[in-house]
Amino acid sequence: MTITENRARTVGHIIAGRDVETGDEAIDRRAPGTDAVVSHVLAGGAAEVEQAVRAARTAFDEGPWPRMTVAERALLLNRVADLIDRDAAELATLDAEESGKPITTAEGDIAGAAALWRYAAALALTMEGTSFTGNGPDYTGLVIREPIGVAGLIVPWNFPALILSQKLPFAIGAGCTTVVKPSEFTSSSAHRLVQLIHEAGIPDGVVNLVVGDGRAGQALTESAGVDIISFTGSTLTGRRVVTASAGTMKKLSLELGGKAANIVFEDADLDDAIAGVVHGVIFNNGECCVSQPRLLVHDAVADEVTRGVVERMKRVRVGQPLDRDTQLGALIHAQHKEKVSSYVERAAESGAEVLTGGGVLTDPALGAGQFVQPAVIDRVAADSPVFQDEIFGPVLGITRFSTVDEAIALANGVAYGLANTIWSKGVDNALTAAKALRSGTVYVNTTIDAPPQMPFGGYKASGVGREMGQAGFDEFTELKAVSIRTGRRHETFPAI
Ligand code: NAP
Repeated sequence: MTITENRARTVGHIIAGRDVETGDEAIDRRAPGTDAVVSHVLAGGAAEVEQAVRAARTAFDEGPWPRMTVAERALLLNRVADLIDRDAAELATLDAEESGKPITTAEGDIAGAAALWRYAAALALTMEGTSFTGNGPDYTGLVIREPIGVAGLIVPWNFPALILSQKLPFAIGAGCTTVVKPSEFTSSSAHRLVQLIHEAGIPDGVVNLVVGDGRAGQALTESAGVDIISFTGSTLTGRRVVTASAGTMKKLSLELGGKAANIVFEDADLDDAIAGVVHGVIFNNGECCVSQPRLLVHDAVADEVTRGVVERMKRVRVGQPLDRDTQLGALIHAQHKEKVSSYVERAAESGAEVLTGGGVLTDPALGAGQFVQPAVIDRVAADSPVFQDEIFGPVLGITRFSTVDEAIALANGVAYGLANTIWSKGVDNALTAAKALRSGTVYVNTTIDAPPQMPFGGYKASGVGREMGQAGFDEFTELKAVSIRTGRRHETFPAI
């Protein structure tokens, strides 16, 4: 990464430990808060991907990394975590500037990233298989857990360093080597992280970085040298990844879109629920796969909850991402801002009522950026776009229910199944709903709240596979069954 005179960074590839500055014309990244160009990202394509895959392949097939002891690998992962802590302020600034998220959220991401590296180091230390000896005294079955090989890691823009850290330390902790493809909108923190990985002493070729747009992701997915693609992004692109990988039949782990519901029962602590609902829709600008853009609220408390949510939403501080007081920053780019705003503008067409938000922001400090007012829309019908589509912005739709069954049917009545939240102090409502919800994550009396030990992933159109937890580590491994017999064997085979 180099800094030019106008202070914009040039972000290139890192392959086999070396900076590579080839590729098509650079992509200018404009900061969502100010519209100023902050980085030039080289547009890597098939040639750079091929070079990076070759480096990862060589490091896996011939290099020391998969052959090291788990203790040696874990030590280096922990060293990366220490360097992330050392450079946390710089990494958080890069992510806030390029993604538009509030700096305080970015700081939380970086602390979370360091924690993930340490957790993956602990999993690496305990990587083990099993054995089976119950098939006769002369039989020993060994189930050996091995790294799967070369992992292609494709990352979105909404949590650049954090989501990369949900994949990378798990992959290399298991002994894989990798090619990383960040989003063209947020490549700088990934670039810095790969530099830190080399500073920590992880050998060249274990982690390779190709920056660029979706064409680089497509080339990585198609590559015959890649054994697994771990992809996080939209369901639309996820489908393209499935198609592009078919020719090489590689393993896929897909973390895709979401449309979570907050279900507020009549026995909820309403202060907690109201605060949680607002947090659930403005956290990370609403650009979060487990954002909670649907509020399903029991008739008996619907008016009170709606009033409380609207009051709080009007107090949300919209501001520049790097301002420490900001609670809602700038959306990722102008096109996305238009998309989010259009849902609020068109909500009335399906009989809904906009209670707040959707208006023009008048603060001149926000003039050039991609800012929107957070919106609350009441009386949202279950078949309307506001209810069904992943809007990916600070837009909350409210729908009322009168029975537990109705609440569950509404919550499950979308294509996605990533996460849902239940607000209830009663074990009957909470547990019945938690079991009936078709989503990989359920929060009860809390929201967007889970440590690295909890596996994360989707049902239905929200994805395939799991990240984090033991399951997230195991995604990057293969199981090999080795059957061994002792003693003379010829009598057990057909007499030929
Ligand atoms: P996206 O447009 O699908 O992009 C994701 C990544 O895929 C980016 O690096 C993108 O590169 C790359 N890409 C684009 N086209 C590709 C192709 N044909 N083949 C392979 N890779 C390709 O998603 P996004 O807009 O960055 O992220 C928002 C979406 O991610 C939302 O739907 C959100 O719900 C989802 N998400 C899911 C999770 C989860 O854990 N389930 C977490 C976070 C976000 P470019 O950016 O350079 O085009």
